[in-house]
Amino acid sequence: MNVDDFKRMYVIELQELRSVEEQLVEALPRMAELVQHPQLRHALESHLEETKRQRDRLDQLLRGYGVSTREYEDGSMRAIIREAERWANMVSHPDSRDAGIIASAQRVEHYEIAVYGTLATWARQLGLREDERVLHAILAEEKRADENLSRLAEINVNRDAASSADLWQPESTGEPPAYQAPMRYVRQGSRAVSHRIEDSPLVSMLIVGAAAYLFAHLMRSGPERYYGRTQSYRAQH
Ligand code: ZN
Ligand code: FE
Ligand code: FE
Repeated sequence: MNVDDFKRMYVIELQELRSVEEQLVEALPRMAELVQHPQLRHALESHLEETKRQRDRLDQLLRGYGVSTREYEDGSMRAIIREAERWANMVSHPDSRDAGIIASAQRVEHYEIAVYGTLATWARQLGLREDERVLHAILAEEKRADENLSRLAEINVNRDAASSADLWQPESTGEPPAYQAPMRYVRQGSRAVSHRIEDSPLVSMLIVGAAAYLFAHLMRSGPERYYGRTQSYRAQH
């Protein structure tokens, strides 16, 4: 591999990673505001402070390469945050929303862990000792943040969400409760989502059935066929 190309790729990914932290500096306060559980809010707020320091440390590395800190925006993080906010605003019960926010926050941490892990390895391969040290240090912080969220999910927040599930018992309208429960979980504005499933349980069942059939068929036709196809594809290229 061409070392100059590799290093250029490394610096661009570092610029994208800086954009990840910057996006989180903006998004974490909005997420924390929606949280009910004090421990979860505190966890998000203290990770916000950590995130600002991470962004600043990345800025320092980037300045060393003489490149802009704002040249690239990480589109994957943009999408993760957009989904997180969409869900948080759809769920009306505070305990459930907290559980959803933990899920979103852990998705964020796992994404960061993946990127920091990769870039720390690249820095080592490129002989960039200081970068490697900084990236490993931040990687450890992201792992701690993730573990902290796992702990909160297990000991507190999700249990509260589960124990308040009985609050969603639908009033007796004569409709089967199995189709009503998920609707109560979701606010009026997003009825379209639950409606799609609610209106057509038969269609959903048919889709599931068809998928299972297709899967069984693929399994039956055996892996040789697919490996065979892959090989002939490779042979052409
Ligand atoms: Zn990227
Ligand atoms: Fe971070
Ligand atoms: Fe993080």
